[in-house]
Amino acid sequence: MSTQERTYIMIKPDGVQRNLIGKIIARFEERGYKLIALKLVHATPEHLEKHYADLKGKAFFPGLIKYMASGPVVAMVWQGLDAVKTGRVMLGATNPLQSPVGSIRGDYCLAVGRNICHGSDSVESAEKEIALWFPEGVVQYTHIQEPWVLEDN
Ligand code: GDP
Ligand code: MG
Repeated sequence: MSTQERTYIMIKPDGVQRNLIGKIIARFEERGYKLIALKLVHATPEHLEKHYADLKGKAFFPGLIKYMASGPVVAMVWQGLDAVKTGRVMLGATNPLQSPVGSIRGDYCLAVGRNICHGSDSVESAEKEIALWFPEGVVQYTHIQEPWVLEDN
């Protein structure tokens, strides 16, 4: 559990079209995470197939790629204490119907194939996804809130 842990969080095309960008970003900001990369990108199917390589072969894979390529996504990297695991808790379960109220999916969506957001599932996949979406690198800076959010600064 590192204060420097980084996770790749993405607002999917339905989250963008449903005007949820600000609300989703606000949750990570307000929790105390630090935004270290951000861009709006309309990804190609080839790029998305790399992102979801582990799911190739699943029956829903072609539909997933079509959905994810249907419009722009917001690609982000958030840094802070336990960012990967806590980021997933903030998103909720893969199936929104199993997501607790109070989580992003539990509050804003219903269908597994329209679940508005993505979050890395391990530190290893986070690093892979950050490299895939941000080959240009992330931004290093000191955030003024850090000593108020993290201990031992
Ligand atoms: P995640 O890590 O919670 O996003 O879930 P996975 O990595 O297992 O799956 C990636 C994405 O594929 C999910 O967020 C869903 O959008 C989609 N997905 C997963 N399982 C299903 C399914 O059974 N049906 C459909 N239509 N989509 C699915
Ligand atoms: Mg996943």
